[in-house]
Amino acid sequence: MAEKIQMTTPLVEMDGDEMTRVIWQMIKDQLICPFVDLKTEYYDLGLENRDATEDAVTVEASEATKRLGVAVKCATITPNAARVEEYGLKQMWKSPNGTIRAILDGTCFRAPIVVAGIEPTVKTWKKPITLARHAYGDFYKGVEMRIPGPGKVELVYTAADGSEQRETVHEFESAGVVQGMHNLDASIESFARACFEYALGLNQDLWFSVKDTISKTYDHRFKDIFAELYETEYQARFEEAGISYFYTLIDDAVARVMKSEGGFVWACKNYDGDVMSDMVSSAFGSLAMMTSVLVSPDGTFEFEAAHGTVQRHYYKHLEGEETSTNSVATIFAWSGALRKRGELDNLPDLVDFANRLEAATIGTIEAGQMTGDLAAITTLPNPQKLSTGDFIAAVASKL
Ligand code: NAP
Ligand code: MG
Repeated sequence: MAEKIQMTTPLVEMDGDEMTRVIWQMIKDQLICPFVDLKTEYYDLGLENRDATEDAVTVEASEATKRLGVAVKCATITPNAARVEEYGLKQMWKSPNGTIRAILDGTCFRAPIVVAGIEPTVKTWKKPITLARHAYGDFYKGVEMRIPGPGKVELVYTAADGSEQRETVHEFESAGVVQGMHNLDASIESFARACFEYALGLNQDLWFSVKDTISKTYDHRFKDIFAELYETEYQARFEEAGISYFYTLIDDAVARVMKSEGGFVWACKNYDGDVMSDMVSSAFGSLAMMTSVLVSPDGTFEFEAAHGTVQRHYYKHLEGEETSTNSVATIFAWSGALRKRGELDNLPDLVDFANRLEAATIGTIEAGQMTGDLAAITTLPNPQKLSTGDFIAAVASKL
């Protein structure tokens, strides 16, 4: 066998839970370690170890990402009451993705992996659409109140010097509900910066959409911050790259996205991004074909699959039954991280390997060999449905 491809800086490796943890090991053993002299700083974010370390491992892994710049993360369980009981947890630990995001201050970019034979539901879409979701504030950090009956609701801002600003929200004559939410200029600016940088990295247009005609202060602030940053820092670079920045109202954007060919980055506020990323991913075929990367404004990258730990398949696996779990998004998390490491460390062989790993994965599916989720929707004739392990073995032999 030829000599293995060398790395200089380790990747931050965050292991995870259930079926994706099983897949994780198979990918390393069969698709990466035979070809690459893999260097990682390993953090076990599996739920048992998060519990044993009082979740310190999640914080350490995030700090390592700040230090080393590139991480690859396996899907992890976000515990709920049922998981607390199942794993006998000391407490209901917070979502690891939330913890990582809070430390890295990032924006989440999600893009579908496009293969022939898995056709988008939207016929005009020829190229992937990358959805960029602002991951801070709005009603995800909102406060809400049920209003039991008649009375006045006001917004009150008390400045540090004690002065006040007041707005009446509503004079209630009967019962209802209210909600207060916020965002921060600094968070919106880092979101905008991450989107401009990402579009430049992909060499694709950037679209941004809010509802500033109705929300003349709140949404308008988003529009202004994007526009100011574009004019002062990005316009020249965009023009040089031959790409454009395009702002439009969210409802107009939705209509245009449906008639587009794809091939651009669509930046959305937190809620719009939550909803639209699920629409875009399901219209492209499958959640298991969606990659996700968290990009921080200071240039760190954390790659992962968009789906969860595929719990139902894992329980079948534990029963000794054969599973057919799609590993494509997890393979692309690895290839994305290796490619970025190769670019940052100037290792063309590593970049080339990442490209070949992706080509072998796509080539395997396009040759008709795929897991059950894709076999059920493909337009290819006579697809061969493979088990979890056989699919990875098929990719390995192509590689
Ligand atoms: P999920 O793991 O994404 O799976 C939901 C369903 O989607 C599966 O039951 C399966 O459908 C299908 N599916 C998802 N990924 C697939 C794959 N790779 N191959 C084939 N089918 C796939 O979501 P969940 O069951 O709601 O959540 C399970 C755990 O994952 C939870 O504890 C949750 O906290 C965690 N989670 C983690 C992340 C993350 O770490 N980023 C994200 C989401 C959820 P069928 O059963 O019909 O085959
Ligand atoms: Mg959602």
